[in-house]
Amino acid sequence: MMNSSSACPFGARPRHRTRLVQVGGVAVGAAAPVVVQSMTNTDTADVLGTAMQVAELARAGSEIVRLTVNNEAAAKAVPHIRDRLLALNVDVPLVGDFHYNGHKLLTDFPACAEALAKFRINPGNVGAGTKRDPQFAAIVELACRYDKPVRIGVNWGSLDQSVLARIMDANAKLAEPRDAGAVMREALVVSALESAAKAEEYGLAGDRIILSAKVSSVQDLIAVYRELAARSDYPLHLGLTEAGMGSKGIVASTAALAVLLQEGIGDTIRISLTPEPGGSRSQEVVVAQEILQTMGLRAFTPMVTACPGCGRTTSTFFQELADGIQRYVREQMPVWREQYDGVENMTLAVMGCVVNGPGESKHANIGISLPGTGETPAAPVFVDGEKTVTLRGDNIAAEFKAIVDDYVATRYTRKAG
Ligand code: SF4
Repeated sequence: MMNSSSACPFGARPRHRTRLVQVGGVAVGAAAPVVVQSMTNTDTADVLGTAMQVAELARAGSEIVRLTVNNEAAAKAVPHIRDRLLALNVDVPLVGDFHYNGHKLLTDFPACAEALAKFRINPGNVGAGTKRDPQFAAIVELACRYDKPVRIGVNWGSLDQSVLARIMDANAKLAEPRDAGAVMREALVVSALESAAKAEEYGLAGDRIILSAKVSSVQDLIAVYRELAARSDYPLHLGLTEAGMGSKGIVASTAALAVLLQEGIGDTIRISLTPEPGGSRSQEVVVAQEILQTMGLRAFTPMVTACPGCGRTTSTFFQELADGIQRYVREQMPVWREQYDGVENMTLAVMGCVVNGPGESKHANIGISLPGTGETPAAPVFVDGEKTVTLRGDNIAAEFKAIVDDYVATRYTRKAG
């Protein structure tokens, strides 16, 4: 599977990596577009439930999906999940998340190892004491045997304590010891880099390794990844771990990732949102896409510009129209993507009154300027900067959607076949 959306419309993003890692058919690193990934929260042993959630995440746009492989039942389920997805025509690479017993599960369940496109190893959870190195070596050897890439994923919640102790000892001997935060950040970076070096010693090629070092603090994440980027050439997986719920999780993730992505750091991203009760898991995919798209790094789905509203418009109609149009284009995208080239770059504007309405609408491919309080009840529509029609009455939403459909059908090239 190729990375399917458009690359940065503003030209090549400066990139720090030169290595390229293939995860299934998805390219990660070098000049490849930044890849969106996600993780399931189902019990992996539940084949049907997990397959359905992976399918949902993939349809939302997740290009790689990780699932936990925590016990024998989960390891047994993985190839069946893969088969169900293929039957649903969903060919998204699956990543196995291993902690503590990965060496054993991958040895005992070869079909699981075969079905996965990548193994994620957490150096802090691979085994304690004298077991750590041989168990780490065993997973790396299995990755070599099955020709799978590995993400060495360090996390400050499970940082290798032996590395931390060593860095703390060295720090204590310095004439001017660094503070505890700097020591912890250095331990995260060292754990990732030393584990990658060990994996190469054990036979894994350098272009089969992706690194991550996740923390839940924005400033720490930025500092850690700047170090990782400066001190290695492996592709980097970005994510603010345990970002939280709702707007806090979205804002914190965006604040951290935007700084790094702007500096050319990050080859694949995941947004670790806690879903609202009853909320969709695929929200983390939508947020990841929106970060990349609003930064101009990739385009996934048409974006709607809408004004915030103010005292000039007391109606909620423009809010409802903006929301309805955003939902509509997202729902249509799976079909449009198959039929038309470049439709993800389309821009829309829904504005609440005459102050900024016509101007903003002219900047979009299609814009509508709704009447504010006291204005004539008419809504001019602008297509590629030109006013084409004025909508009136109770059917504005449906008529505007029809204009969008017509624009897509006439302005974007139909794909062959
Ligand atoms: S476009 Fe009009 S309604 Fe919207 S924020 Fe501006 S002044 Fe207020």
